[in-house]
This record gives sequence, structure tokens and C-alpha cells, in this order.
Amino acid sequence: MSTKDFVEKDYYKVLGVPKDATEAEIKKAYRKLARENHPDANKGDASAEARFKEISEANDVIGDPKKRKEYDDARALFGNGGFRAGGPGGGSFNFDLGDLFGAPRAGGRRLRRRRHRGRLRRPVQPRRGAGTCTQRRRGQDIESEVTLSFTEAIEGATVPLRMSSQQPCTACSGTGDKNGTPRVCPTCVGTGQVSRGSGGGFSLTDPCVDCKGRGLIAETPCEVCKGSGRAKSSRTMQVRIPAGVSDNQKIRLRGKGAPGERGGPNGDLYVVVHVDDHPVFGRRDDNLTVTVPVSFSEAALGGEIKVPTLGGPAVTLKLPAGTLNGRTMRARGKGAVRKDGTRGDLLVTVEVAVPKELDDKAREALETFREATASEDPRAELFQAAKGA
Ligand SMILES: [Zn+2]
Ligand SMILES: [Zn+2]
Repeated sequence: MSTKDFVEKDYYKVLGVPKDATEAEIKKAYRKLARENHPDANKGDASAEARFKEISEANDVIGDPKKRKEYDDARALFGNGGFRAGGPGGGSFNFDLGDLFGAPRAGGRRLRRRRHRGRLRRPVQPRRGAGTCTQRRRGQDIESEVTLSFTEAIEGATVPLRMSSQQPCTACSGTGDKNGTPRVCPTCVGTGQVSRGSGGGFSLTDPCVDCKGRGLIAETPCEVCKGSGRAKSSRTMQVRIPAGVSDNQKIRLRGKGAPGERGGPNGDLYVVVHVDDHPVFGRRDDNLTVTVPVSFSEAALGGEIKVPTLGGPAVTLKLPAGTLNGRTMRARGKGAVRKDGTRGDLLVTVEVAVPKELDDKAREALETFREATASEDPRAELFQAAKGA
């Protein structure tokens, strides 16, 4: 796995897990996808095979804590695929930071070489409200998760979400100081961040240790919050999950995170959605899938079959005469809800059912059928092809 692969491929997206997924979550997502896309279960399906390869590759990297850390670090530095080095086909990733800062940008703008001042900020840094201003502070982003039924995910749902978050301490109005008069932290001069040289000619920023990233130090710490200026609170919120979400999707609800401090904007709320399986219906992007048994005579003679839909009346599909087992037909507009409110399709796969028991009349009819088709050898082509190769 080259660094170039690390920068260009989003393995989290491949496995459909959030960036901070636990090892167990990654393992679970990998197993589920590997089962669905396994070559044995998708014979002759080249796209499933490619996908299976992709899934395995993603698991090799982010399923291994050591490789995952290298991967995360590489992407934090080079910005999730936004930066590419080397021409097409360049398998390795040799670069020099001088080139990095001197390279033309997509907009044609050329950045001046500034090896010693260049600053790469880690994307994992919490975003701040107003730069070095110590008064306004953006509220924290909160992450939560919710499990929906299959139908709720398709139709959308309003769910109660219990969240604990950091609020400004009421005793000291969030200043952290008993008297409400904190002083500016001398270490970071109120920015809440310190630069850390990494020896590569650029620096990274870390939260300031002395003031824990707040930019302020309490002279007489507030007794209630021990000088942090924050208090834990939990609240229950009704959250609207839009229609059409899929398993492991992360939804961002702007401004629904922790409240900002001293007039700063609220943080965002991220909700990771888990979706339960349905006993009958499956999901493929915007489409729903269902497998419908048909009798041999229906498949051979053709006819109309009734097919259940999710949450709606059954639809009638016309089965052409001579329909093969495994053939997939489409019921338009009976799938999952898309972003624009329209719906995908219901993909109906027919499965020819073989009767386990026959009564006398049915047996007689089938024996007559066998006699009528005795001259046709269903395996003639197979043996012909086997001989030819
Ligand atoms: Zn500080
Ligand atoms: Zn306090």
C-alpha cells in the first residue's frame, strides 16, 4: 500500500464507517460487506468482485490499528485526497515539501514558497469561532448514534436523542473564574493553540496544555466547574432523520451541537445512523430489492404476479413467458426515497419454486409434460461446450 493509495482512497467510506469507528465497528462492517460481495455469492459479477477487493483492501489497512494510524496521519497531512503528487501511474509517492508549497494549485494560483512559515493545520482540530478572539467560542461538535428500523430509514423518522454535552458553567458564566475575571493565557497568548515544529519545515498546531485550549486562565478557579468554565448537561432532543438514509451514514445537523460560549455559534451534531435489516426487503442504493417465488408453470407460461411493496399496496408485474430463474424485473418508483423526494425502483428477482410434494393430478400433468419434451436434452449445449474447450 503506497502513501499515494493512502491519500487517494477513503477506506472509511469503502466500509461505510465513521472516521472514529471502533475496531469492533470496522470488523462488523467489513464482515457484512464481505459476505454481501463475496465472489462465491456473486458468481460472474465483476463489479461485486471489484468491490470485494476494495473492501478487503480497506479492511487490511483500517482493520489493523498500526496501519490505520499511518493511514490517518497521511490523510491528515495531505487532506483526504485533495492533494496529489506524481503523474498518473506514479505508484510511489516521493515528494518534497518545497514542491508542496511551490506547486500550482487547481485554480492556477501559485503559492509562494514559504517553507518556514507554512502551516498545515490538522483537520481533526476543533474548529474555532473567531480566530484569536478569546471572547467568542464555537460550541463543540457532538456525535451521537441512532438505530432505525428498515422502514424508518426509507421513510424518514423523528427520533428522540439523549445527549450529554458541555454547557457553559452557570456559576461563573462560563469564565472558569470565581470572580468572573479570568486572564489571558500567557503560553498561547489567548489563541488556545501552540505550534509544534515537526522537523519537516512546517509546523502543526496543538491545543494549549496550560489553558486546555481555552485561551483563558482562571486566577481564582470557580469551585463548581474547577476552572474549566464548562458543565456537563444532558438533554433529550427530537431529531428529524431525513428519508432515504442508509446504514452507517453520518448525518450533519448544523447548529444542533453544544452551544457556543459568549455569543459564539453552536457546534454541529453528527448522527451516525444504523439501520436494521428487513425480513423481506433489501436495499441497493436508491432501489429496494425483493425475491419473489414463482411456480414453474408461471415462469414457463408467463402471467401476472403480485409483488409486495414496502409500506404500500402490492403491485402487479407481468411475467413474460419463458422467464428464467433469477431474472430481475423493475417496479418503477417503489424503491427508497431520494434526496429530491422521488423514489428509486423495486428490483424484483424471481425464484422458480419446485413443489416439494405433488398430488396425483399434478404428477400426471408433469409426467405428460415430460413425455411431450422428451426429445429435448436440457444438457445438450453444456456437453457440447465442455467438449469444445
Ligand atoms: Zn493557553
Ligand atoms: Zn464555573
